[in-house]
Amino acid sequence: MARRSTLINIDPDDLIYPYFVVSGNKVRARINNFPGIYRLSIDELLKDIRSLELLGLTKVLIFGMPDKKDLLGTGAYSEDSIVASAVRKIKENFPRLIVMTDVCLCAYTTHGHCGILKGPGIELDNQKTLKALASIALSHAGAGADWVAPSAMAKGQVSAIRKTLDKNGFRKTRILGYSAKFASNFYGPFRNAAGSSPKVGDRTGYQLNYRDANAALNEIAADIKEEADMVMIKPALAYLDIIKQAKHKFSHPLAAYNVSGEYAMVKAYVGSRGQGLGAGEEKNIVLEILTGIKRAGADYIISYHAKDVARWLKE
Ligand SMILES: [Zn+2]
Repeated sequence: MARRSTLINIDPDDLIYPYFVVSGNKVRARINNFPGIYRLSIDELLKDIRSLELLGLTKVLIFGMPDKKDLLGTGAYSEDSIVASAVRKIKENFPRLIVMTDVCLCAYTTHGHCGILKGPGIELDNQKTLKALASIALSHAGAGADWVAPSAMAKGQVSAIRKTLDKNGFRKTRILGYSAKFASNFYGPFRNAAGSSPKVGDRTGYQLNYRDANAALNEIAADIKEEADMVMIKPALAYLDIIKQAKHKFSHPLAAYNVSGEYAMVKAYVGSRGQGLGAGEEKNIVLEILTGIKRAGADYIISYHAKDVARWLKE
């Protein structure tokens, strides 16, 4: 009798590739401690997406870096914001690509926090933050984003965005909640990429304590209740237990973010092994890692390795 295979394989459809978009033309700028990842102007982004589609990848997550920042992060929700402009161009050229956008304020505020501050301190004004996040999401949906992904960890962000989208005729725009986003030590290269480090204080006030599994599960439950179409756990590798518990407890669509520090660790390790060993070893390591994340329960994995993986799967 044939036994049903229980082997888990990574498929390009499982993967979501993140992009960092800047203004200008022909910009393809290296990022500190982030080998192989670039800040791209929209023209370069479109070229890159062409090759990404040829590899069989179907989903991208867009982060924007504005030219100017201010206290209220207004650059995030103007109609011609860098993300809205990028999404419009992507959809014009690649209508079938599934486009997700990061919805947050930290790359757009002078203080680098994820919301609007109450006063001179670093406490977030939740109401004002929700309003700003909903405006950002609406501008991205208007530009054609299929999914918006609020990452500010503001209380009630999913339902505030859902209400605003519905009211404005964007019922089909889906929401990926950064539900369990930990105050992690693995975000270094990303912050270099997005220029989003807090200028004062840190994010422990609104991101999760990695010592607290229950808080993570509660946040996920809250986002599902607020009608998040998919929930996210970030980072992935040190949080496989959370992924597994969340999948088991909620059986809701689940994404895991294989973050910049996890990616950079692999690159550093493979690099340190000397010439000639690199490519094959990197492939084996990355496939083992991503398979582990999927095996734990992730339906989708946001990963900087995605293009390499898609290439290896074609070999
Ligand atoms: Zn943020």
